[in-house]
Amino acid sequence: MSLLEIDGVESYYGQSHILRDVSMRVEEGEICALLGRNGAGKTTTLRSIAGARPPEVREGTVTYKGRDITDMETEDISVLGISHVPEERRVFGNLTVEENLHLADVVQNRSNTVGRDLQFEHEGQSIEQILEDFPRLAERQNQLAGTLSGGEQQMLAIARALKQSTDLLMLDEPYEGLAPQIIETVEGAIERIREEGTTVLLVEQNAVAAMKIADRCYVVDQGGVVFEGTADELREDDETRERYLGV
Ligand code: ATP
Repeated sequence: MSLLEIDGVESYYGQSHILRDVSMRVEEGEICALLGRNGAGKTTTLRSIAGARPPEVREGTVTYKGRDITDMETEDISVLGISHVPEERRVFGNLTVEENLHLADVVQNRSNTVGRDLQFEHEGQSIEQILEDFPRLAERQNQLAGTLSGGEQQMLAIARALKQSTDLLMLDEPYEGLAPQIIETVEGAIERIREEGTTVLLVEQNAVAAMKIADRCYVVDQGGVVFEGTADELREDDETRERYLGV
C-alpha cells in the first residue's frame, strides 16, 4: 500500500472540468515531484488531495494510509498528518518571524486535541534546527513578517511547515520567486526533512530544480497525467521534457 493513492480523480471548478482521470501514488519516504506547465492542473491536484475547496472532486478517490479522505474537510485532513503549503505565502504579517514559527506549535496542539486517534510518525524540526537551516530568518527573528521580502516570506512559510510534525508535506511551488542561492537552502531543508522520514510531494514549475531532489516524478498536462517515472527516467526522456516542460 502506498502512503497516498489517487485513483481516477475528476475535479471541477463549477462547470469547468479540470482534472481528468488523475491517478498517482506517493510512496512513504520519497520525494515525489508533480511537474507541468502553467495551468496544467498541479495546484488543482494538491487542492483535491488536501480537501481545499474549490475544486470539487466529483469522481475518483484519494486514499491516505488506507483511509478514504476524498470527502473529508481540509482541517481533518491536516490532523491526519498531511501538511499543505499553498502557493500564496501565508505568514502573519503583524507577528514577528519567531512568533510565526511558534504558531506552528499552537496549530499542532489544536490538532492534537481534535485528532482523537492522532499518531504522527515524524516529529517536526526544532526552531533551532530551522534557524540553522535558514540563517536569513535567524537574523530577522524579531522582524515583523509583513516587512520581510517576498523570498523571505516564502522561506518563513516553508519553515513553519517544517516545524509541524507531519507525515506528508505537500509544497506548492516552493521555489517560486526565490534566488538560486535561496533555492539551494530550501532544497537542503526539504532533503533533511525527508531524511527524517517525512514524505514530500513537491509541485514545481522549475522542473530542473525539482528533478534534482525528486525520486519520482509525475508530469501533468491539460489536467491529465502524461508521464510517471523516476527522475532519471524523466531526465532521459527528451520528448516528454521538451513537449510538456519546455526544458
Ligand atoms: P500554475 O503553475 O500556473 O500554478 P497549475 O498547473 O498549478 O498552474 P492549476 O492552478 O491547477 O494549474 O489550474 C488548472 C486549470 O484550472 C487552469 O486552466 C486554471 O485556469 C483553472 N482554474 C484554477 N483555479 C480555478 C478557479 N478557482 N476557478 C476556475 N478555474 C480555475
